[in-house]
Amino acid sequence: MMKDKKYLLIPGPTPVPPRVIEAMSRPIIGHRSAEFQTLMERVTGKLKKVFQTENHVLIMGSSGTGGLETAVANLVNAGDKVLALSCGKFGERFAELARIYGAEVDFVDFGWGYDIDLRVVEKKLAADPNIKVVFATQNETSTGVQNDIEGLGKIVAQHQAVLVVDAVSGLAAIDLKTDEWHVDVVVSGSQKALMLPPGLAFISVSDKAWEKIEKNTSPKYYFDLLKARKSIAKWNTAYTTPVSMVYGLEAALDMILEEGLENVFARHKLLAKATRAAIQGLGLELLAPDECASMAVTAVQSPMVVDADTLRKVLLRDYGVTFAGGQDIMKGKIFRIAHMGYADKFDVITAIAALEMALGKVGYKAELGAGVREAQMVFVGGEHA
Ligand code: PLP
Repeated sequence: MMKDKKYLLIPGPTPVPPRVIEAMSRPIIGHRSAEFQTLMERVTGKLKKVFQTENHVLIMGSSGTGGLETAVANLVNAGDKVLALSCGKFGERFAELARIYGAEVDFVDFGWGYDIDLRVVEKKLAADPNIKVVFATQNETSTGVQNDIEGLGKIVAQHQAVLVVDAVSGLAAIDLKTDEWHVDVVVSGSQKALMLPPGLAFISVSDKAWEKIEKNTSPKYYFDLLKARKSIAKWNTAYTTPVSMVYGLEAALDMILEEGLENVFARHKLLAKATRAAIQGLGLELLAPDECASMAVTAVQSPMVVDADTLRKVLLRDYGVTFAGGQDIMKGKIFRIAHMGYADKFDVITAIAALEMALGKVGYKAELGAGVREAQMVFVGGEHA
């Protein structure tokens, strides 16, 4: 085996395209220069297209969690009632953050492997008109479940509450019509479907949300959205911008826009479909049902003969392939295969071919080629459709 040949198939950080790496290797320019302002103006325009919004999209130097904290710090006042809709690890994170900022959190746990039940949300909001913020996750990375954000947006728009969506792992993989679907705040991160290294968070903010932000009293400094808004008016950020990441961001956005947003979503859908078909072809169980299966990451229950982490160790040791494990209550019980960002058909084929060989090594009887064949069938069908 070639030691340096690796296949990173985790849901972030994801592989970075050569075009993005090349852009990032340009000489640094001053972040307060006219040249940088021109770059930021261009990049912000492209970012808005990918966010499908006319609102401000602000760029922060932080990981995705910094973006989530920014949303909470700017929208939640101590004592506010908020509704946190959770389907796994990242839904829980929003609730934890809201509690830290003093919110009275109504935490609704739909369970790991399930999506948000919109009827519950409808009832909760109708019963309590004082709810100020609704937090939800577009793509729950910990379970491979995606939520109906369009449906959620329709419900929340009828109330005074603002809808805040964690799209850290879903934006640019799964459709999210920010304005049309009434999503007030969308948070995303660089290292997932946006095909960049870790280090940037993005946050779009609607007028309805700005009204709340302008009155917010929670303590904050670096993550102050009013400062960020003031700076973006001058095509800048409040503090030193990660300049190289912005170069890379423009290249990544160009790739997405050249492919076309609809085509990007269709590619992710096809890869998810092929992955799921392959897993079933191997006789393994998927965690998420078809109706709410993520287009960006597939969670698979570990076969009875072995725990998921042992299988993952064999995959890395013998084939250089990295899948993600389960988090928290799912540790050892599932493994997760990402198909997001700079991913195409042969990433799925590689993942499944390696999985078949590793399964044999841990004593699970899977016919070699049984999964690969299912994936190929989806691709052939897809191409000829
Ligand atoms: N939200 C979701 C849905 C995620 O998948 C992640 C990361 O995996 C995060 C939030 C947190 O992002 P970060 O690890 O960049 O802070």
